[in-house]
Amino acid sequence: MHQQQHAVKVRLDRFVKERLEPARERASAPVRVAAWAVPGEPVPFSEAVGQSYAPVEEGYAWGRAWGTVWFKVSGAVPADWTAEPGEVELAIDPGFIGEGAGFQVEALVFDGSGRTLKAIEPKNDYVRLGLKPGESFELYVEAAANPDVFTSGVRFAPTPLGRWETAPDTPIYRLGRIAVVQRDATVWELVQDVATVRGLALELPEGSPRRAELFAALDAMVDAVHPHDVHGTAVAGRKALRRVLSSPAARSAHQVYAVGHAHIDSAWLWPVRETVRKCARTFSNVLELMDADPDLVFACSSAQQFAWIKESYPELFERIRARVAEGRFVPVGGMWVESDTNMPGAEAMARQFVEGKRFFLEEFGIDTREVWLPDSFGYTGALPQIARAAGAGYFLTQKLSWNEVNKYPHHTFDWEGIDGTRIFAHFPPVDTYNSQLTPKELAHTERNFADKGRASMSLVPFGFGDGGGGPTREMMAAARRAADLEGSPTVRIAPPIEFFEAAEEELPSRPVWSGELYLENHRGTYASQARTKRGNRRSEALLHEAELWAATAAVRTGAEYPYELLRRSWRTVLLNQFHDILPGSSIGWVYDQTAKEYARIEADLEPVIAGAVAALGSGGAVEGEGFVNSGPYEVDGVPAFSVGAKQVNDVVTVERDSGSTVIANGAVRVVFDADGLITSLVDGATGRETVPPGERAGLLQAFTDTPRNYDAWDVDVEYRRSGRDLEAADEVKVVEEGKERAALRTVRSFGESTITQVFSVEAGRAAVDIETTVDWHERQTMLKFAFPVDVHTASARSEIQFGHIERPTHTNTSWDEARFETCAHRWVHVGEAGRGLGVANDATYGHDVTRHPRSGGGTFSVVRQTLLKSPLFPDPEADQGEHVFRTSLVPGGVAEAVRAGYRLNLPLRAVAAGAVEPLVAVGNPAVVVETVKLAEDGSGDVVVRLYEAHGARTEAVLDLGFTAGAVAETDLLEREVETAAVTASDAGSVSLALRPFQIATLRITRA
Ligand SMILES: [Zn+2]
Repeated sequence: MHQQQHAVKVRLDRFVKERLEPARERASAPVRVAAWAVPGEPVPFSEAVGQSYAPVEEGYAWGRAWGTVWFKVSGAVPADWTAEPGEVELAIDPGFIGEGAGFQVEALVFDGSGRTLKAIEPKNDYVRLGLKPGESFELYVEAAANPDVFTSGVRFAPTPLGRWETAPDTPIYRLGRIAVVQRDATVWELVQDVATVRGLALELPEGSPRRAELFAALDAMVDAVHPHDVHGTAVAGRKALRRVLSSPAARSAHQVYAVGHAHIDSAWLWPVRETVRKCARTFSNVLELMDADPDLVFACSSAQQFAWIKESYPELFERIRARVAEGRFVPVGGMWVESDTNMPGAEAMARQFVEGKRFFLEEFGIDTREVWLPDSFGYTGALPQIARAAGAGYFLTQKLSWNEVNKYPHHTFDWEGIDGTRIFAHFPPVDTYNSQLTPKELAHTERNFADKGRASMSLVPFGFGDGGGGPTREMMAAARRAADLEGSPTVRIAPPIEFFEAAEEELPSRPVWSGELYLENHRGTYASQARTKRGNRRSEALLHEAELWAATAAVRTGAEYPYELLRRSWRTVLLNQFHDILPGSSIGWVYDQTAKEYARIEADLEPVIAGAVAALGSGGAVEGEGFVNSGPYEVDGVPAFSVGAKQVNDVVTVERDSGSTVIANGAVRVVFDADGLITSLVDGATGRETVPPGERAGLLQAFTDTPRNYDAWDVDVEYRRSGRDLEAADEVKVVEEGKERAALRTVRSFGESTITQVFSVEAGRAAVDIETTVDWHERQTMLKFAFPVDVHTASARSEIQFGHIERPTHTNTSWDEARFETCAHRWVHVGEAGRGLGVANDATYGHDVTRHPRSGGGTFSVVRQTLLKSPLFPDPEADQGEHVFRTSLVPGGVAEAVRAGYRLNLPLRAVAAGAVEPLVAVGNPAVVVETVKLAEDGSGDVVVRLYEAHGARTEAVLDLGFTAGAVAETDLLEREVETAAVTASDAGSVSLALRPFQIATLRITRA
C-alpha cells in the first residue's frame, strides 16, 4: 500500500508542477515600464509622481541596498481577450530572489491618484486590474531594495548590509516579468483542492482508510485532467476530488480559530522607517483581500503601527478605520508595540498599555481585552497584574515553544503573577505566528495540543509577517477547505476574542503556571547593545523626574504641564522597547537611531525638570547648595520627592595596611587588596562580613561568547568554560580621601580594551558605589562583574516591574539548570535571615547567580552582572567603544536593595539652594510611590501610582502636600475602579492597605 501511495504522490507532484500550476494563467500580454530611482531616503507618492521616468526592460539592474526605485507601469488589456474583469491582473516580479517573504525586495502599487492598491511580495505578486478587454491603465510601483541581511537562509555571518553607509551601493535586484495576465480561476481552485487533499493524506496514519481514499481521489484527478488541455478539463479534475473534500470532520476533531495576522517586527533586520512601509504594504493587501473575500478577519496588535499609517498614509488609514468599525480589521493586544517584557521598567510596562489602549479607544472606540505577544523573549511575572490593571483578561504567546530544554506543560491555562493575579493564557499549539493553514500545520496543532481531553480548541494566527504581506487568497482557500473536513481539525476564521471567550467557557477550571514565563533561549538579549539599554533606563528615569517635577510645579505654581512633550517622549521610549530593539537583536542602523532618539529625549526633558524646579522657587544663588531628590526614599538627609540641603552626620576614613586599603564610614567598612579587589565588606550596622573566606569580590571576568546560533540573541551555557579573571591591575590608587567621600581607582587592560573603575564610599551611605568605565574593542566577548557573597541560600531575588521575583540558584531540575542567565531591573539580592547583599545597577539587566562550596562548610553565592556581550551579528559594531556602568553594593535585606536601586537610578541633582516640600510622602518604606503625574485627560487631577515592594502585606498613609478633593482608585488608564487598596481618605492623606506586590493607582482631584 505504501509503495502504491508513493507512486501516486510522485505522479501527482510532477503533474501539479508541470501542468496545473502553469495553467493558473490563461494568457499574458506585455506592458510598458519606466523607472525613477530615489536618490536617498524614501519619498511619498506625491513627490515621486512628478519625477521624470526613463523606460526600462526586463533584466534592468536596479536598487542599491536600502534604495528605492519607482516604476511607472502602463498598458492595456488586449482587445481580443475574452476575459471577465475579475480575471484580469497585473503580475509583477520586481526581481524576487527565491520565495523568502519579508527579507528581500518588496513593492507597493499605487493608482494615479496616489491611493494604495496592493503590495507585491514573493508569494503574493499580483494586483487585480478589474478591467475589460481593450481598457488601459497606468500604475505606480514603489519598489524597496531591502537586502537579505541573513544572506540567503538564516546564517549569522557579520554583514555590512545593516547600515546604509556600509552597504555596497551597487544594484542588488534585476527587474523580472511585469505583464497583464488572465487567470484561470478553475485551475487555481483545483490547485488549492490538491494542496488540501495531498497535505491531509500525508498527515494521516499509513494504514488509515481515509488516507487511502484521499490518494485514490488524487490519482483519479490526474486521470481526469488532460495534460494537453488543462483549461478545458480542470472542472473534471475538481469533480474527482469533490467527494473526499465534502466528507465532514469527526465530532471530536480539534477546533481551530484562525486569525488573519502579520507579525511585523517594528524594526529588526531593517530600520524603523522601513517598518512604516512594510505596514502600509501589508495593510493594503489586507484591505484588498477583504474586498475580495468577505470571510477574512485580520488582527493587528500594535497601536504604533496604526499611528504610522495615520500619519503617513491617511487615505489608507481611513479605509482601515471603516473595516475596524465592521469588526473585520481588529485591533488586538492593546500595547503601543509588542514590547520586550523583561527589561521595560515598571511605569514603562504600564505605559505600553496606557498608550496602546488609549490610541485604540480614541481612534476606534475599542477597549481591547487581550495581551498579544506572540514573539517576545520571555514574560515577566509582573505582567498578569499589569495586564489586568489595564483591563485585559487574556494573554497569548507562542514564543515559549522555542524553549531549548523544557516544554511548558499546557497550551491553555491560568498564568499567575508575582502578586497572585491570574490571567487566562494561551500558547497556540501550531507553534508559529506565520501559519499558512497547511494541513501539516493543522495536524501539528491537533497532535501537539497538550490540553486535549479537557479542552478542544486553539488559536492559529495565519499570514506572512515582516513584509511578507499577511494573509493570502491561498490561505483563505485552505481555511475554507478545512472548515469541516474528515481527518482535519475544523477551521473557522474569527477575531481573537471569540476564541478566548469560547476557550474560557470550555475550560472553567484551568491548570495554573505561577511566576515568570522564562524563555530558555535568547538569554543574551539582556546584555546585547548596552548603550541602548542605558538609553532606555536613563530615559525612563528622566520621564519619571519630568512628570514628578512638572506635576509638582503645576499644582504649586499653576505652571503649564507639558502633556504633548511627555507623550511624545514616552512613545519614543515605548517604541524602542520593541522586542527586537531593546533586546539588541536589530541591525546597526536601528541603534544609530536609538542613540539619537535617547539624546533627543534628554535634550527635551532636562529643561522640563530644571524649569519646573526653578518655577518651584529653589531660590538663592549658590549652585550646589540645594539637592533635588526625585526618588521615593530620603537620600543624604534630603526627603523623597523634595528639594533641600544634605544633612549627613558621618565621616569617611581611609587606612593603608601592608598592601591593602581600608575605606570605612559609620555604616560600611571595605577592604581592598593590592590588586584592588574586595577581600572584606562589613555591614557596620551588624558587624557581619559579606565576602566569603578566601574569596575576592568585584572581580571582572571575560568569556568567549560564540553561540551556536543567533549571536546577539543567545548566550549558550558553554560560555562558562572559557572564563578569564581580570585580576592584574595596571593601577590601584586612592584618588579621593575627603571626609565626605573617599575613592579608590583601578585600571585594568584586557586585549585592546581598558577598564577603569572607581570604588567609592560616601559619608552616611551604607554602600560601596562603583563606577566602571569601559573602553571596549573586543568582539564576541562577554564581560561580567562578579561578587561572591557569604550567604547560604537556595534562591536570589531580582527586581522586576512593581516588585521582585525569587529564582532558585541551585540546578536541581532541568528548569533551574536552563535558567542560567536571568534578567533583573535595578538590583539583585541574595541573603539568609538577617544578612545579605544587594547588588544594584543603573544600566544593567543581565545577571547570573550561582552557589558554591564554602571553605569552612556550607555554600556561598556569586552574583554576577553581565556588562557587555559584543556580538558580531546582526550588528558587527555592537558594543564597541566607551561605556559607563554604575554598581552599588549594599549590605542588608531586600528593603536596602530596593532603596539603593532608586538612589542609583535617580541620583540627587545639585541646584541652587532652596527648599521644595514633596507633593506626596509615604512613611512606610515598603510602599513605594513609582509615579507622580497629572492625569492623561488634561483635567489637572494628580495621579499617584504606588506598590508594595517588599513582598509582605502592609499598611501605609500617603500624606498629600496639597489639598485634595475626591480620591478615587483607578486602573492604569485612570478610569475609576472598585476600591482595592484605599481604606480611608481626607483632604490631606490617603490610608492604604496593600497585599504583597499590589499596584494601586490613585486619582486625586484638587480642592
Ligand atoms: Zn517578532
